[in-house]
Amino acid sequence: MAFVRCGDCAHFLPDEVGDGTGIGNCFRFEEYKLKNPSEAALVKARASMGKGLLYPSVERDCSKFGGKNEKS
Ligand code: SF4
Repeated sequence: MAFVRCGDCAHFLPDEVGDGTGIGNCFRFEEYKLKNPSEAALVKARASMGKGLLYPSVERDCSKFGGKNEKS
């Protein structure tokens, strides 16, 4: 799997504090949490997003990646 950067993903939610280079969030993950999944399902969802932090420039292996110019 290719490594991607959250900062290049249409689903990335930049940190609202500061200049936006800090830790952000993932729209796909927040959307999933609204379904009130079990703790086990949440752990599985986190793993499917790839490991690592959500800082814009951190490389991660995420199967949910959608480039900013891609529709998903
Ligand atoms: S879908 Fe993956 S690459 Fe995109 S913001 Fe979420 S965790 Fe990052």
